[in-house]
Amino acid sequence: MVAALLGELADLVLPGACAGCGAERVRLSYGTCAACVTALEALRPYATAPSPSPAGFPPCVTVGSYAGSLRGALLAYKEKGRHRLARPLGALLAGAVAAVAPRDRPVVLLPVPSTAAARRERHGDHMARLTDHAVRRLRTAGYTATTVQPLRALPKPDSTSLDAAGRLISAVNSLRISPRISVLQRGGRIRGTLVVTDDIVTTGATLAAVARRLEEADMQVTGAAVLAATQLRRTAPGN
Ligand SMILES: [Zn+2]
Repeated sequence: MVAALLGELADLVLPGACAGCGAERVRLSYGTCAACVTALEALRPYATAPSPSPAGFPPCVTVGSYAGSLRGALLAYKEKGRHRLARPLGALLAGAVAAVAPRDRPVVLLPVPSTAAARRERHGDHMARLTDHAVRRLRTAGYTATTVQPLRALPKPDSTSLDAAGRLISAVNSLRISPRISVLQRGGRIRGTLVVTDDIVTTGATLAAVARRLEEADMQVTGAAVLAATQLRRTAPGN
């Protein structure tokens, strides 16, 4: 809490470089220069899927590709503690959610959980914070929107040497359904269009694993909304 507050103050007193492009000595809005704000506002969410897609990968909409101002802003938010970016990035994420969820039904956002180590490193749960801002923006736009966290993330071993199937198994094994889930379901808080939110989709293993774990608890995911999608190189069969 203190760390987050200090981060906010540092941002106010020493705006520093633009979070999106690194430009210095420019006027910043939420830590972002006018050119980057224009670039971010011009993004139009689109459907994306990794190639190849892991089994159970949900329909997914991304705000944009992991490049340019979006990549810069996301890195500054996630890795450099520029927490004020949660508001504009959350608003962008809401745009991707709106492309997945019909407006006439309640929508429930389920952020991909962070491990305890990631929360310590990033001064809090960066996806929960982003998702809270997305919920606010959706409500302003007329949606009945809420967020719940039915999952816990355990540390998972380095997956770079695993193949696609191995990555998916590793991702599923690192997720636990919270014991509170049945209480939440009975309370009616988890009713509506379920949309998983994440920052970046790369191989799709995390989103597929989250959808699978939620399904085991009778929660059918409608889709996923992410801020950025990396462009994967296709590999030849057998590689
Ligand atoms: Zn910029």
